[in-house]
Amino acid sequence: MSASTATSITLERVTKVYDAPVVSDVSLEIAGGSFVTLLGPSGSGKSTILQMIGGFVPPTDGRILFGTDDVTELPPNKRPCNTIFQDLGLFPHMTVTDNVSYGLRIRGVDPGTSAKRVKAMLEIVALDGYERRRVHQLSGGQRQRVALARALVLEPSVLLLDEPLTGLDEQLRQQLRDEIGRLHRRLGATFLAVTHNQEEALSLSDRAAVLRDGKIEQVGTPRELFETPANVFVARFVGVDAMIRPEKVEPGEGAWIATVAGRRVACDPPRRRATNGGYALALRPERIRPCKPGEEADFGPVTVTGTTYKGRDVEVRSSSSLFPPINRGRCRPSAPRSTWSGNRTGLSWWRTPVRPTLHLSNDRKG
Ligand code: ADP
Ligand code: MG
Repeated sequence: MSASTATSITLERVTKVYDAPVVSDVSLEIAGGSFVTLLGPSGSGKSTILQMIGGFVPPTDGRILFGTDDVTELPPNKRPCNTIFQDLGLFPHMTVTDNVSYGLRIRGVDPGTSAKRVKAMLEIVALDGYERRRVHQLSGGQRQRVALARALVLEPSVLLLDEPLTGLDEQLRQQLRDEIGRLHRRLGATFLAVTHNQEEALSLSDRAAVLRDGKIEQVGTPRELFETPANVFVARFVGVDAMIRPEKVEPGEGAWIATVAGRRVACDPPRRRATNGGYALALRPERIRPCKPGEEADFGPVTVTGTTYKGRDVEVRSSSSLFPPINRGRCRPSAPRSTWSGNRTGLSWWRTPVRPTLHLSNDRKG
């Protein structure tokens, strides 16, 4: 299957009402062969949308198209689509092979062909050697792979994944995330995943739709969502910790000037001009640092009440009545001593890239 023949999905004004509306008037185009993620907090309607696309839950209103075919009324087994639910739905006491071949057996694929396809698929998900293992004897990551193999062995042109990486430890998440990305490129099917984790969404998908209370706030590439969020909700959700509403914003050549608590702050110009509601100043934690001695601060001074080393950065807690949003900021680890508790310090932006560090190599022969 190639990307050009993969099935596109169109949601046309899809609504789902239980006691109250949980998905409202959602329209979305998913190109054939692309990887799209629905990103939103718990309860925002992500799983409900996935279940409607899979055919497990009927929409109250609106249409769902696969290519140009209206599938709104079709049962799940009549859609060229496979779903991996959050609980995976594997048979725990059956072997890996029996789990993966299950769907082929149901479809009446002959045992010889089935065995070949299962073998090839287990190699793709790096589970060869585990054929006879029972699922309850596998780790979380291995089970996740069995679920992927079981869905993909049926060669669906659409794969739906509900929180595929939730509940796995950090290293496994990264491994599986890469593996899902590879599978997507290799198989050329249309992948639609649901997650509440922004990093997952940004790293996996060609495009992501940010959901809030059953409505789409913004659809875009990861870069568009991160760099030009449509509003404060999207900005927060894709990784900005602190937002400050400036009292005044003055456009300038290059930098713009935002006035916050009576203080003028030079900032990057907005990617889009505000039409209503004005602007919010986004403080990306990775760009904040405590001032060097004698340096003029962009913000502050604040009193540092505590720091926590987090490896990638240092979380700095401070008390500032002027800038409450930055009271829990994160700084680069090279933060100077002034970040120590009890000190007063100003905060500034990183303006220059940080240089890479040399480390001793592990290579004993060298
Ligand atoms: P998410 O996957 O984003 O966490 P869901 O789609 O599971 O969100 O749920 C969205 C909302 O719909 C929630 O408020 C949830 O309680 C409600 N909901 C989901 N399924 C049902 C159902 N079968 N009956 C009633 N309410 C439901
Ligand atoms: Mg869900």
